Amino acid sequence: MAIEDLEQLIFRDEQIINADPAQVLCFQEQLMKNMLQLIAKQHPVYRTMIAAKQIEILDIKSFADLDEAFPVTTKEEFVATPMSYVLEADPANQKDYLNWDVTYTAGTSGVPAPVFQSAYDFKGVLFAHLRMAKLRGMDRTDTIFNLYPLAPYPHGGWIRPSQAAAVIGASAVVGMSGSTSSSFPVLRRFEEVVDLVAASNPSVVWGVPSYVLKVLRELEKNKVQIPRLRLINVSGEPCGPKLRAHLLQSAQHVSNLPVTVSDSLGATEMQFSLVECSGGFGFHNPVPEIARLSVIDHNGIELPDGIAGKLQVTHLNRRGTVLIKYLLGDIAIMDQSPCPGCGWTGGRIIKHLGREGKFVKVRGQMVNTQAIMDYLESLDYILDYKVSISQDVSTGLDQMSVDLATKTGNLSVDDRTTLLAQLSDLAGLRLKVDLVELNQIWEPEAGMKPKRFVDLRIAN
Ligand SMILES: [Zn+2]
Repeated sequence: MAIEDLEQLIFRDEQIINADPAQVLCFQEQLMKNMLQLIAKQHPVYRTMIAAKQIEILDIKSFADLDEAFPVTTKEEFVATPMSYVLEADPANQKDYLNWDVTYTAGTSGVPAPVFQSAYDFKGVLFAHLRMAKLRGMDRTDTIFNLYPLAPYPHGGWIRPSQAAAVIGASAVVGMSGSTSSSFPVLRRFEEVVDLVAASNPSVVWGVPSYVLKVLRELEKNKVQIPRLRLINVSGEPCGPKLRAHLLQSAQHVSNLPVTVSDSLGATEMQFSLVECSGGFGFHNPVPEIARLSVIDHNGIELPDGIAGKLQVTHLNRRGTVLIKYLLGDIAIMDQSPCPGCGWTGGRIIKHLGREGKFVKVRGQMVNTQAIMDYLESLDYILDYKVSISQDVSTGLDQMSVDLATKTGNLSVDDRTTLLAQLSDLAGLRLKVDLVELNQIWEPEAGMKPKRFVDLRIAN
């Protein structure tokens, strides 16, 4: 079956509900072969690599062939030369390649890297959001409140929920919080955001979970109801069982309806999120026609369902930034069979084991210190921090603690509760949090690089 013979480049929704995974795979492989032909001609990095390694593109007929022949692309490689991952335009079809929008992914060196959506891709992004909404149980009757902050650079969190509302025919209101400095007075203060939430009476609130919680708690404190609230969409930071319980507890106080939390796993490099369906059951790939998600071993070979590995994405139908066998930096377990809850086929992450990172053993369990540090870095109010592991003198037990200095010098009770819930979800054990002065964490005048993680146990 050649790509030209395909009547359409997408499945009808009912075709991927309780579908045969082998058929979905076959369809994805047709798209992949088409994508490889484009990149061999038009992709600066991959074209050069294909020539240098003498890869026979036409011999790649399956994802197994692709795993054998093609190396992985790491985030470090991509962010070093992001412009070289954008397809050059096909002169016969220039309009598909015009840039529609660009969003940035935080680079490892601190400079954000652009991901380009061409005019062709943008409709695919809208389509992905239509599918995500369907999986989460959203429709035209919804009023969506977007609580993502306006970032200092274009970011999908702030941009996409409004577009999701457009494509499903729902209403959207945007909070417009943010810490970006601008000459133009467009941002709203926290109190104004909370007022606007109350005035717009949303059925869906969508944002970073700890910020959503902060807003819900403020409504609760002010004894304000948003009686239609029934769904909380979250992404941007982990939302473990403790944080989820806090969200649901606050939501119950402000809404008259049963509320559910729909978590998701997004990446700028995908331009959509893997979402939970209304029954939970893991993170679903909403668009198997646009991207193949799978997990691989250390040799880059796809692992069977149920085995933990590195999560990779391969774009199947894009014209702007295109990534093949791109490592998203997560460790996950996948299942390609239909979801037991909703029947969706196209790949689900059934267990997200966190970001790839540095692990240390604390009280007999492996703790990802990198995930804890990533989380602390993501919090706007934290000026600096230090994570330490030590041995309690009296009990001899390991203890993990976080010293932090905040921008205001204070840490509110609410912020502390959220922080403790998040940290214990991430670490799998209770941590101690202490507010300290900045110079207790490191002294800039001492000229040493700040050490943000220390292991003070004698055995180490
Ligand atoms: Zn499902």
